Amino acid sequence: MSFDSLGLAPALLRALADYGYTQPTPIQAAAIPPALAGHDLLAAAQTGTGKTAAFALPLLQKLSTSGQTMTRRPRALVLTPTRELAAQVHENLRDYGKQMQVSATTIFGGVSMGPQINALRRGVDIVIATPGRLMDHMQQRTLDLSAVETLVLDEADRMLDMGFLPALKRILVALPKKRQTLLFSATFAPAIKTLAMEFMHNPREISVSAPNAVATLVSHQVHPVDASRKRDLLLHLLSADSRRQSLVFSRTKHGADKLVTFLNASGLRSAAIHGNKSQNARTRALSDFKSGRVTVLVATDIAARGIDIEQLPIVINFDLPSVAEDYVHRIGRTGRAGMEGLAVSLVSHDESGLLFDIRKLLKQDIAITPIAGYEPSAPLRLDAGAPRPKQGGGGGGQRQSRPPRQGKPAGSARPSGYAPQGRGDHAAGNQRRRSNSRPAAKA
Ligand code: AMP
Repeated sequence: MSFDSLGLAPALLRALADYGYTQPTPIQAAAIPPALAGHDLLAAAQTGTGKTAAFALPLLQKLSTSGQTMTRRPRALVLTPTRELAAQVHENLRDYGKQMQVSATTIFGGVSMGPQINALRRGVDIVIATPGRLMDHMQQRTLDLSAVETLVLDEADRMLDMGFLPALKRILVALPKKRQTLLFSATFAPAIKTLAMEFMHNPREISVSAPNAVATLVSHQVHPVDASRKRDLLLHLLSADSRRQSLVFSRTKHGADKLVTFLNASGLRSAAIHGNKSQNARTRALSDFKSGRVTVLVATDIAARGIDIEQLPIVINFDLPSVAEDYVHRIGRTGRAGMEGLAVSLVSHDESGLLFDIRKLLKQDIAITPIAGYEPSAPLRLDAGAPRPKQGGGGGGQRQSRPPRQGKPAGSARPSGYAPQGRGDHAAGNQRRRSNSRPAAKA
């Protein structure tokens, strides 16, 4: 299937061709026609599936072909859970809409309100916002939502996970009833369905992969290791190919900072991205990583959510996430857009229970491969009663807490060899990444 058959305007088709996109991804093929026809959509799609274009293209087309543009009353609102995702959606909208007269601005916390207020006063078509800061603007009456025709809820499940439900409800009731709503979510948790039933009009449901599905091109490796030796093992793995870029996940902000200090001191250019960093520091870390100036980006779950890094060959879980669903989100950053990816987890004995949950969620065994010289003093346990990190403790000396879950033991672990270079030529991967880099944003 080609983009031409989806009913997109020539200006968008030209922008897509500039991007080098030759055919729509499954979520784009399924979502664009009904979105262009004006239907509400309830779309199950995780990061990495091309979901941003699935809503951005119909949104741009609708705005460019109808009504006044750049008034003080924005006509579209895109809500995202994080600042990074808001910035990324903004960048995509600018790139896809570069041949159209449609303007967009971002509204998120961590930066001063003044420039945001000025941008709104100048007039804008699309506001991309995180719920908290949007509420601030609503309360201060610096934003008029009365002309919003299209609402996009991006990563709605994550917004609910982050406790934004009350804010979302207040925003939703402040919007015009007559509007199109496009909701994208990695999973259709019951709370998402409830939200959809309450605030959407007869939505079309689209699901291109099973909820919680993991990109099929991603292979998983678990290396059991004592918590006290995780840093050394990480360094060992990263040093196997110091040119290869890796995204490393830490459960805590403090843990991420400590890891970055350690890696930098060990000669690996690293940066952290987490909620305690200023917006500028986060943006700089991400752009340094994208440009290749930084080889290792250490991120916490919330900060990393939605980060769009093209064709990342490897994601390393320095700590397992405390909630199994986050594993799916984390590794959504590798194996994207048809590329193969590798998800490596360093798992200490006290995280055994978390690994049990992940295997249960993925419904698959994950090879457990000790690395010579880093074998743990106690083997991992893979049953429902397996230990989980205590509050204030955790793998690699980090916090963690969650009530144990019930369930049956998963199948036994199959050891297999670790192959750091086994997922293809990473230098070539980086080359592809650079050559595929996007056209510079217009504004
Ligand atoms: P998303 O799920 O929106 O975060 O997109 C994941 C990645 O896929 C991003 O790097 C996009 O630039 C890329 N992408 C989106 N649509 C396409 C397409 N039709 N063909 C190839 N890559 C795409």
